[in-house]
Amino acid sequence: MNASATPPGDQRPVLIIGGGMAGLACAYRLVTAGVPVRLFEASNYLGGRVHTRMRDGLPIDDGFQVLFRAYPETRRLMDDVGFGAALIRPYDRGAICYDYGAPFTFSTNPKDLLTFRLMSLADKARLGALGASVLRTHIADIWADTRDEPTEAYLRRFGFSAESIERFFRPFFTGIFLNAALDTSSKNFRFVYKMLASGQTVTTRDGLGAIPQVIAAAVRKAGGVIEMEARATALIPSEDGTRITAIEIARPDGATDRVEGSAVVVAATPPEARRLLEPHDAPVARRIPTIGLPSTTLAWKLPRSLYPDKKILVNSDALAGTRRMETGFHLAMQITNATHPGRTEHGYLLVAASIAEACADEGYRREILPRAVLATLAKWFPHSGIEQGADLVDVHYTAFGQYAQPPGTRERLPSNRTRFPTLMLAGEVTESSSIEGAVVSGTRAAELIRTTLRADARMMIVGG
Ligand SMILES: Cc1cc2nc3c(=O)[nH]c(=O)nc-3n(C[C@H](O)[C@H](O)[C@H](O)COP(=O)(O)OP(=O)(O)OC[C@H]3O[C@@H](n4cnc5c(N)ncnc54)[C@H](O)[C@@H]3O)c2cc1C
Repeated sequence: MNASATPPGDQRPVLIIGGGMAGLACAYRLVTAGVPVRLFEASNYLGGRVHTRMRDGLPIDDGFQVLFRAYPETRRLMDDVGFGAALIRPYDRGAICYDYGAPFTFSTNPKDLLTFRLMSLADKARLGALGASVLRTHIADIWADTRDEPTEAYLRRFGFSAESIERFFRPFFTGIFLNAALDTSSKNFRFVYKMLASGQTVTTRDGLGAIPQVIAAAVRKAGGVIEMEARATALIPSEDGTRITAIEIARPDGATDRVEGSAVVVAATPPEARRLLEPHDAPVARRIPTIGLPSTTLAWKLPRSLYPDKKILVNSDALAGTRRMETGFHLAMQITNATHPGRTEHGYLLVAASIAEACADEGYRREILPRAVLATLAKWFPHSGIEQGADLVDVHYTAFGQYAQPPGTRERLPSNRTRFPTLMLAGEVTESSSIEGAVVSGTRAAELIRTTLRADARMMIVGG
């Protein structure tokens, strides 16, 4: 127990519902402060949306995601759990944008930026000014800004031309916000731009899913209990209705049991968090965003390397103006260039991501989309033989990739608190739809729970 540890009081564990980044961050912060925890995860894996499956030695993430090393709270957590820096794998800054089938390399490296022909010189200067502006603004001040507007309006106000927006910003940020409309809040855009400008964009040698694995191992090592395939079906209020410290858990064999703790943290996926909270705190439950943005990721194993760079291939043709979504996917990336540079024995892993609505249809995403992606890549890399050699190894669809974040979203989000001092909410839903949002939220929930438990302990001492 460390120096600021929670004093002895109710020694029953804090019950945490959900083993995504938020639930794990919360569990780690509590258990290492001397508070016992019991975490319940409905599925048979940890990490929630940050999950990697290994196939033939290739790390396949559930959905194409990146980590910004500049995420402050995530960085602190990874350092504290001892995530090996040697496992971090950076991408090259920038992207290769395919516009009318031709590649244009974008980079923040000034020399490459000068030759990037999808943007005028004046807009390149604006890009520099945008970077300087976000770098000198503290994250808290970005979120506290009273002015909010759609990203596209913000970029126009900043002076960017319609051409730069269509050919660069829209395609590039579709991959980040899972939304081609560029109507995401400008606060989220500025936050992400600050993260992009402040540090490396990375994955890990074993995919992003390795991060929650290491956090979970640290939770267990510190004495925390993690139960898999244990789905919370209900929160149970005390008889007098003033507290919630118990939950009902459904097990895979159909059995249900009632579990008692000192407090409860709901860190489930947003729609499920809403379902659990609704009967007990409807005003908080209704603030939980539940409009999900879907995402589909296809993964192929290639016998030969398609391109050497650690850069994302952005399909501007899929999104710009009248060309919108003709080819169904907005980005592709040969992931192994970053995760295993130079290695060939397992082949090369290529992923492509799509937000096309048609992907909700299984036939489209398993048959039509893969053919369309390969046909486009064959045009981009005419001598690669990709259409013959590529082996489709995974198709992953998620209906709730992130939640929609139009202007004003941040102000409408719930806080971690509910009307019960022993019941907290944790997850991206209290912050922003990102890994950092989840970690910040889980960390704050842990602090609030400790404050509650300390107050309870003081009352027990005073009350004798
Ligand atoms: C395709 C895609 C791309 C993304 N790109 C990025 C990116 O590039 N960078 C970035 O920072 N973020 C990105 N994100 C967002 C990021 O992954 C999420 O914001 C973050 O992981 C959310 O974490 P969470 O803990 O709040 O929720 P979740 O990850 O949803 O975790 C919730 C957990 O609760 C469990 N659960 C649900 N109901 C119950 C129940 N009743 N009982 C017990 N357990 C339950 C779930 O199984 C899950 O494990 C992306 C997401 C997707 C899907």
